[in-house]
Amino acid sequence: MAGPPSRAGARILVAEDNAVEAGLLRRELEAEGHRVVTARDGRDALRRVVDDAPFDLLVTDGQMPGLDGLRLCRLIRRSSEVLPIIYVTGTAEHLADALDAGADDFIRKPYASAELRARVRAALRTGHLRRQLAAERDRSRALADSLQDGLAVFDADGRILEVNDRLVDITGFPRGELVGAVPPFPFWPAERAEAYRRRLRRGMEGAGGSEGDRSYRHRSGRMVDVIVSLARLQGPGEGAAPSFVSTIKDVTDRRAAERELRRSERRHRALAEEQARLGRVAATVAASPDPREVFALVAREVAEMLGAEAGGVVRYADEGAELVGSWATTAEVWLPEGSLLPVTGDGATARVLREGRPVRVEGDVGVRLPDHAPPVASPADSVAAPILVGGGLWGNVGAISRTRGALAPGAEERLAEFAALVGIAIAGADARALLAHQASTDALTGVANRRAFEVRLVAEMASAVARGTDLSVVLVDLDHFKDVNDTHGHAVGDRVLCELARRMLGASRATDLVARVGGEEFAIVLPGADLATATDVADRVRAAVGGRTFGAAGRRTISAGVATRTDEEDAADLLRRADRRLYAAKAAGRDRAVAVDAVPTV
Ligand code: GH3
Ligand code: MG
Ligand code: MG
Repeated sequence: MAGPPSRAGARILVAEDNAVEAGLLRRELEAEGHRVVTARDGRDALRRVVDDAPFDLLVTDGQMPGLDGLRLCRLIRRSSEVLPIIYVTGTAEHLADALDAGADDFIRKPYASAELRARVRAALRTGHLRRQLAAERDRSRALADSLQDGLAVFDADGRILEVNDRLVDITGFPRGELVGAVPPFPFWPAERAEAYRRRLRRGMEGAGGSEGDRSYRHRSGRMVDVIVSLARLQGPGEGAAPSFVSTIKDVTDRRAAERELRRSERRHRALAEEQARLGRVAATVAASPDPREVFALVAREVAEMLGAEAGGVVRYADEGAELVGSWATTAEVWLPEGSLLPVTGDGATARVLREGRPVRVEGDVGVRLPDHAPPVASPADSVAAPILVGGGLWGNVGAISRTRGALAPGAEERLAEFAALVGIAIAGADARALLAHQASTDALTGVANRRAFEVRLVAEMASAVARGTDLSVVLVDLDHFKDVNDTHGHAVGDRVLCELARRMLGASRATDLVARVGGEEFAIVLPGADLATATDVADRVRAAVGGRTFGAAGRRTISAGVATRTDEEDAADLLRRADRRLYAAKAAGRDRAVAVDAVPTV
């Protein structure tokens, strides 16, 4: 940049087609200490402005061949507002046009040296100020453009006076479409324009509300999340119209990250919740010997987990599919346990039975329940997963929703884990039942063993004492059983024992307990039976044994001892008395039941 231009040393371009005039000007200006470059016409001047820049001043003649002074002014002003131009003319008529075309000043020919020097000094001063302003503006624009945030300057009408490059980035609109725009701005989504205009207005009035989150629509159509703030700029003087500067921070990525974080938190919470539900079910499976408790809990846990209106556990049986666990949010969709669900058609229960894998059924498929009291509101969607026990299909765990699409994708697979726990509960219960059965059953005959007999006798004694009811016991022993083994072998003896047990079961009531209490000794506990009734039972057993042969073992007989409780006796006393009577029956010749104590012979 040239030095202090109002003094000597400016670089001046003179455009003048008349060589004499040009020489005159050059002499005048060089006398002031300036350096002068002359152009012989407008076109030459334009080329030099571009190629030989920078100049501090252009002094141009009006009338020139080719490109005249007016057009030269206009063309220069297209690219530079800074270069001062003095228009030299011999006629007054073009003066206004010259100023319009961008000239800063003019000189009428002929001119006095003093006037020329004064006007040149003034023009140089103007140029200097303009350069300073332009430099300042360039600096602040560079500063604004270097900001991370978008920036817009408005006037009091909300008209955008200036924007930085970042705002061009953020909105996608070129600077030319932003500068000069008035609310509603092109990057405001139409549906929010009114609200944004109100907030901008309030902000300008100093009423607040101008700060905060906005959604802009990028020129490409995508949405941009921003935070805007508005500040009032100090006017240049008292009473000057205020202007405002707004910063626009693009937080799209931050918001997206926050949304993603929230989503993943939700996923984690859902997973943790599912684990907690599975944990509760697993704990119940481990703690409760009764699978029905597990069914009820699972029905509820799966429905709550999936946000479904009802959940259930279903067992496939010969009669159909029985609801064995049921839970619902409302009575409308609740079915009582024991309800039968269809095993044909397109319902979830029917499909799991057919397909043996988790299923999802969307829309009401017209499932009509064959037997239940209240009509159930038809589900919109349902899901179910098979319960496998010992490798076979046992039933299913399912849930129904009355809202289309409310069951999340993959819900049926999530049920599978609950179904697996239900399977474990059932298998465990089966195993426990088997163990319990084994522990109380005689392996050879299948009737109760001695341990089960004693437990039952003690329990029935306590109950009979409490209620004051009768209780009798019959002890049965095969006569001469040793002979069977000796004659026909142990296997035949075993078959006789089995057959005896069968005939004893036939001779007693369902409420009685038949047990094998020794090698070839059996017992019957008869709750509620008095001595006569118990003796009848003993005689029936005797008749059942004696009435038919025992295969190879032939015709067999038994002896029996019968006793009824008295208030003085406990279970052991009662048993001892029955045993004494059995012994008495043997002693009296076998094949008989003895129900009274032997009268001591005197
Ligand atoms: P009594 O009429 O006096 O009762 O004569 P008994 O031969 O039936 O009586 P004893 O007590 O002398 O013999 C009982 C026999 O029962 C002896 C034993 O070999 C046989 N026994 C016991 N348990 C079993 C068993 O589980 N299977 C077989 N085959 N025989 C058994
Ligand atoms: Mg015997
Ligand atoms: Mg015996």
